[in-house]
Amino acid sequence: MIDSVPTRSCAVLGATGSIGESTLDLIARHPNQFKASVLTAHQQVDKMLGLCERFKPKAIVMTDSQSAQACRVALAQTPWGRSITVMDGHAALAEVVSDPEIDMVITGIVGAAGLGAAIAAAQAGKTILLANKEALVMAGTLMVGAALKGGATVLPIDSEHNAIFQCLGDNYRCFQTPEAVTRLLLTASGGPFRKVEKSVMSEATVAQAIAHPNWSMGRKISVDSATMMNKGLELIEAHWLFALPESRIEVVIHPQSVVHSMVEFSDGSTLAQLGSPDMRTPIACAMGWPARIATPVTRLDWTSSRQLEFEPPDNDRFPSLGLARQTLRMGGCASAVLNAANEIAVDCFLKERLKFGHIFRVVAQTLEALGELTGVAPQSLESLLEIDQRARRHAQAICDGLAT
Ligand code: NAD
Ligand code: MG
Repeated sequence: MIDSVPTRSCAVLGATGSIGESTLDLIARHPNQFKASVLTAHQQVDKMLGLCERFKPKAIVMTDSQSAQACRVALAQTPWGRSITVMDGHAALAEVVSDPEIDMVITGIVGAAGLGAAIAAAQAGKTILLANKEALVMAGTLMVGAALKGGATVLPIDSEHNAIFQCLGDNYRCFQTPEAVTRLLLTASGGPFRKVEKSVMSEATVAQAIAHPNWSMGRKISVDSATMMNKGLELIEAHWLFALPESRIEVVIHPQSVVHSMVEFSDGSTLAQLGSPDMRTPIACAMGWPARIATPVTRLDWTSSRQLEFEPPDNDRFPSLGLARQTLRMGGCASAVLNAANEIAVDCFLKERLKFGHIFRVVAQTLEALGELTGVAPQSLESLLEIDQRARRHAQAICDGLAT
């Protein structure tokens, strides 16, 4: 079948990661509709070279300069690789996403490292498929401002936010609440420790924490799912994307990860979006929007019996949700402080220098200590990054004090 729409040029940021892989799988399945024009990664040279051979992008960015050099040398030795431009550093990310030839930017970089590129894409008025929730958590005001000024269209691909986007249908407008929406209900699987006692969970190993029951994802977001900080970050993400106060965003534990989120309307209706836990569905939804594109995602089988359970979150064992709500009430840069402390604590945990249970403590104490910084909304990316760095130093000092 020949696709009838013109080919859209995509910049896949974080192409070697989990989101990148799902996105590129879809691009490969729809070669007439999408072209992987730009691919970026940090250090994974071999994986990037494999993607270059498969997708023949116009340009790649390796944010690590040694890795970029290794790619240049390897690509120069192949007949097809010589035409691929290799760039390095974070400034190059901002440059490639602003290229007039790029239509669509998929933000699959993990953590604060993706912020600059997300803002540049917003300023350049691109269609942004947003996976990198940390960018919106750190810099909601700046991101929204840049997107509105630049005329960018932000389409969420985080599965919960994409579910809400689908439930809103034609009423979706970037950063606005449709009038008839009363509540958003974010579903959460509860992660690998949903039923694990607090004292046992506190001693969890890295292998246990990243073994998510339903989703296959990168290491950082997997740990965030285990602490439920992922849901905290998603609550903040939903606040910015759909312009609702935290009091109108509920979190519901739904262990099967089939209902990806729900929207409640003023007439009492609740709409939900359902599907298998496979990121290719939300990504395909945003890539094809407003049309739909096909995916091979496993269909839900309604002929066999199944149970869909829902329960309230346990805020005592998982303080992350409360901390995230607190930052939204504090306003200003509080969410950026939360995000920075969490990134440091998760990194220390993944390096086996911090106990799982101490992640919560590092985040709470950093937030408490830097409270005075948090009241004022960031005026510029530079001032925000200063606060981010200060929060990271503070969190690192706490981690060092707690080191195992
Ligand atoms: P991942 O660890 O699998 O991949 C991360 C990508 O970012 C890699 O390509 C890596 O090279 C790149 N990267 C890492 N550090 C970098 C740096 N300092 N500078 C530039 N690039 C860097 O992560 P993931 O699971 O694909 O998650 C990516 C983002 O998408 C995260 O923000 C995550 O919260 C979000 N997200 C992921 C999923 C999922 O299913 N994996 C679902 C929803 C949202
Ligand atoms: Mg999610």
